[in-house]
Order: sequence, then C-alpha cells, then structure tokens
Amino acid sequence: MAQILKNQGSHRILAIMAGVGGENSLQLIELAGRTSYQSRDKITNDSAAKFVKMLRERGHESVLEHSCLSVEFNNVSRGLTHELVRHRLASFTQESTRYVEEGEFKVVIPPDKDKDEKSVELNFPQGVKIKVSFQDWMDLNEQMYRNLRKSGWLRQDARQVLPTGIKAQIVMTANFREWRHIFKMRTAADAHWEIRQVMKNLLEDVKKKIPVIFDDL
Ligand SMILES: Cc1cc2nc3c(=O)[nH]c(=O)nc-3n(C[C@H](O)[C@H](O)[C@H](O)COP(=O)(O)OP(=O)(O)OC[C@H]3O[C@@H](n4cnc5c(N)ncnc54)[C@H](O)[C@@H]3O)c2cc1C
Repeated sequence: MAQILKNQGSHRILAIMAGVGGENSLQLIELAGRTSYQSRDKITNDSAAKFVKMLRERGHESVLEHSCLSVEFNNVSRGLTHELVRHRLASFTQESTRYVEEGEFKVVIPPDKDKDEKSVELNFPQGVKIKVSFQDWMDLNEQMYRNLRKSGWLRQDARQVLPTGIKAQIVMTANFREWRHIFKMRTAADAHWEIRQVMKNLLEDVKKKIPVIFDDL
C-alpha cells in the first residue's frame, strides 16, 4: 500500500561555510568585504554583524557570495525538487529514480486534502464505474510500477508511471546571495504550497543559525 505523506517535508542543514582561520560565515564575509575598503584593521570580535548589515542594506550582495549553505530536503515530492533545480546558480544531488527502487512508494498529498475521500469516478472497461480516492489511485500506481518491474522493465523504464508527488530526497548547495533570491521567490504568496512551507521553515532556521544575512526577509 502506498504511504501518503502529509506536511512531512523537512530540511537538515548540512554545512555553513566558514573560514579556515576560525572565522564564522559572517566574519568570513567581513574579511572578504573589507578587502574592498582595505579596512581589515577595523575588524573586532563584534564588527562582522554591523559590517555585513551595511553591505546588505546598500545592496552590495556580491560580497554575500563568499559563504555557502548546504541543505538536505527530505520527504518532499519530485514536483518540489523539479522546482528547486530550476535555480541555476545552485548545485544539486538528487535521489535517482533510475538507480533506486521505489521500495516504500511514499507520495506527498496536499495538506488540505483527504487521502481517503472517494472524490473521483473512473470509467473502467465494460462500463464499470468506480469511485476512487487519492489513496486508491496511488495504490494502483504502485501496483503498476511493481508489476512492470516484475515483468522485466528496468527501473529507468518503470519510473515513467511514477506520480509527480512521489517522495524525493535532494541535497542543495548555494551561496548566501542565491539563497536570498530563492527564499524571496519560494516563500512568496504565489509560490506552490509545498516548496513555500519547506522554505519558510528553512528560512526560520537559518535566521537563527546565520545572523544578519537573512534578517530582512
Ligand atoms: C511562483 C512561481 C511560478 C513559476 N511558474 C513557472 C512556469 O509556469 N513555468 C516555468 O518554466 N517556470 C516557472 N517558474 C520558475 C521560474 O521561471 C524560474 O525558472 C525559477 O524561479 C528560477 O528563477 P531565476 O531564474 O530567477 O533564478 P536562478 O536560476 O536561481 O538565478 C538567480 C538569478 O541569477 C541570474 N541569472 C541566472 N542565470 C542567468 C542567465 N542565464 N542569464 C542572466 N541572468 C541569469 C538572474 O538574475 C536570476 O534571477 C516559476 C517560479 C515561481 C516562483
């Protein structure tokens, strides 16, 4: 039976780029940024936040590219990962549907929908009409995938019947400037509910872990 995932998309921060001299990401950006003004002599233990805030407010966002964030997304749909990989300045590694068997067959459902509601009538041969739910449809989908595999279809061929909602995992790395762009686009009111929810949660988290850079979003 297909496992239906509701509101289970999540993230795990894997890395925040820091300096080899022990600088945190903010201090690293300050170090790079002060190259411009030749003012490294002004660096103190607490100067980074003020300096980086100044850069951000003046729109000198290229300096924010000196540090990166790597994140893993779990229990999200293939539809979400397809939206993510449109961001060309980021790097990605995604669970493969060619090499990985859909062993668990997990599928993401919209949070406001009932997986068991028999809301759709389907026409079968011999005039048979059957009311099916989201769960029924995904179970049929799973049967189709598994039986194609049993009949000798390779994973890369059987995957053609997988739904857009199939669970995926993806690791993504981008610099802070690109993350700012992604947060703006993907937390906006017109973004898709799934990516919006996952990105809002990630943004809350990075605001706590990385001061200043994302505070205005
Ligand atoms: C609400 C919403 C609805 C969408 N609907 C659709 C849709 O219906 N169909 C569809 O195909 N896509 C759709 N998209 C995807 C969208 O068109 C972009 O592909 C995606 O958001 C990546 O945005 P981007 O190109 O700005 O960002 P990135 O690729 O992350 O690039 C970041 C920035 O770098 C610069 N940049 C990157 N590459 C280049 C380049 N080659 N030349 C010049 N500058 C560059 C640009 O300033 C760009 O904004 C949608 C996105 C959203 C948020």
